[in-house]
Amino acid sequence: MKVEQLIRKLPKAEQHIHIVGSTRPETLLWLADDGGLEKPFKTSRDVQNFFQFTSFPQFINAYCTIVDCITKENQFERITYEMLESEAQCNVQYVEASFSPLDHVLRGLDYGKMLDAANRGIDRARMDFAIECNLRIDLVRNYGPEKGMEILDWVESKNDNIISVDLGGSEERFPAKQYKSVYQRAKKIGLHLVAHAGEAAGPDSIWQAVTELEVEHIGHGVTAIHEPKLMEHLKKRNITIEACPTSNVRTRVVNTIKDHPIKVFNDLGLAVTVNTDDPSMFGTDMNNEYLQLHHQLGFSLQELFKFSLNAVDSSFLPEESKSKMRKSFMKTCNRILNEK
Ligand SMILES: [Zn+2]
Repeated sequence: MKVEQLIRKLPKAEQHIHIVGSTRPETLLWLADDGGLEKPFKTSRDVQNFFQFTSFPQFINAYCTIVDCITKENQFERITYEMLESEAQCNVQYVEASFSPLDHVLRGLDYGKMLDAANRGIDRARMDFAIECNLRIDLVRNYGPEKGMEILDWVESKNDNIISVDLGGSEERFPAKQYKSVYQRAKKIGLHLVAHAGEAAGPDSIWQAVTELEVEHIGHGVTAIHEPKLMEHLKKRNITIEACPTSNVRTRVVNTIKDHPIKVFNDLGLAVTVNTDDPSMFGTDMNNEYLQLHHQLGFSLQELFKFSLNAVDSSFLPEESKSKMRKSFMKTCNRILNEK
């Protein structure tokens, strides 16, 4: 069997994917139509061209365009369902997906109705593809800690399927340490703690997320490579690095997959998972991530499968579900590798 086919069959789990960044090109056209909006693209090909950004600011600009096109709460049902349909096509069986409610509330949408719509998409996907999904609430640094507290008020009033907070946005301009009390409160109300760090800023940004916010996972974490002491700390504390290789190439955090530090992190024994971040915008999916890591960095199928297991073990599922999923993953993987 070809390596592509084997990778397609490997069971997987994803921890770092943004619902909005999963919007398919044809769905973006539908959103614009549904909202009666004038947009600079008429066909899926136009949208694909629009997604050919070559820098982080261009990426943010494209991301904001999608956010602008979401004008009704129920549109989240289709976007979320399709995100999970695409994941299921890569044999991803569990997803933790980020959702940034304030982006949309500022455009007049209702938090509770959006959450209900996303959960309807999750319920339908569970029925159709037997895939599970929980949500992470991205506070987005740029809004500041006061808004972060307000978002936690919303989560306290309605938290269906929400398991953690996350912190995207501009790392350089809005340091993580400003969010210390927000994260302390999030922990108190039972949420897990994750932050994007070390993507657009240096190791200090990761140190802040780890020491001030006490996160369990770091989104990206690329720049940890510059500081052995930090990598040692991440390992000692068993903090998971959610690597997003293609995303990092597309936004020019690294030049090529070959330059990505995932190999070093893995060799040092850090807990690393593989993720797509914004698959539709980056023209990737989980199969492609695994395939690129195999071709460009020489990861074997066994090593790739270890990333799947890491994603289960470090997920925020209850222990019982984790061990059930782990067993099922092992069974499938052994069968695939024996068939080979
Ligand atoms: Zn992200």
